[in-house]
Amino acid sequence: MSLLFPVTTRFAPTPSGALHVGHVLAAFTARRLADAHGGRCLLRIEDIDSRARDVRWVNQLMEDLDWLGIRFDGEVMVQSRRFGVYATALRELHDKELLYPCFCSRSMRRHEEESISRAPHTPPSKRPHRPDRCRSLPADEVEQRLAAGEAHSWRIDMQRVQDSIGCPTWEDLCAGVQRCIPSDCEDVILSRKDTPTSYHLAVVVDDAQQGVNLVTRGRDLMESTPIHRALQAILGLPTPVYAHHPLLRDSNGVRLAKRDQATSIASFREAGYSPAQILSSIRAAVSNGGIWKGN
Ligand code: GLU
Repeated sequence: MSLLFPVTTRFAPTPSGALHVGHVLAAFTARRLADAHGGRCLLRIEDIDSRARDVRWVNQLMEDLDWLGIRFDGEVMVQSRRFGVYATALRELHDKELLYPCFCSRSMRRHEEESISRAPHTPPSKRPHRPDRCRSLPADEVEQRLAAGEAHSWRIDMQRVQDSIGCPTWEDLCAGVQRCIPSDCEDVILSRKDTPTSYHLAVVVDDAQQGVNLVTRGRDLMESTPIHRALQAILGLPTPVYAHHPLLRDSNGVRLAKRDQATSIASFREAGYSPAQILSSIRAAVSNGGIWKGN
């Protein structure tokens, strides 16, 4: 694979648990592609969710990456220090009349909780319903409920987005040219009282701010990319090339996650494994269709 531009990639972990071999594959892929093109690989801590702001995990993450020998270029970006920047982007979307308030209770939008402040690792297509029931509330009712101080979050109206930008394309290194059809996407929540931004908004703003022109991340986030592409088009931000790499899975085909303590880097370190052994097991898993058999 050869890219004809100076590449800037990034690794963007959410430090809500121990670093595991799946993360290492993502970090390693970003570093390798940057090195192969004489480029830079940046680190961004995605901690807009207060539950992901446990300094214990951040410290452990940095220590594990250092121990593995995966180095990053430039300054580390920390999302929890950037709420003001996200607020500006949100205001721009408000001004363009692309947001509407959603009064659905937390229990009604339970299935969306993960995707508001964290990357949604469950594809929207597997979720129970399209959460756009507040899109068509009468304007006077909306005004009244807002004036009464009723709790609400802000959703983006993807139909209006489509009316404004049409259906832009992007390039995925693994899957070729893709088309974003905004009206096929969920009207995702971009902010709410306890989290004044969302994963989708923050990731798009930060990739542009950091000059990331090659986003490498797991294939499970591919369904988020049309939303990111739409936000880039609306906000006039550059569009990176994407490379959604295959995921590591256990022998039942289930994606490895933070809950699997057995695959955490800390547990391998404790058991006396070397970084080279871990990297070579990850390579073996990749050539075995992503199935992680352990060390
Ligand atoms: N922070 C996300 C995660 O840990 C990754 C987001 C991305 O690469 O776009 O799953």
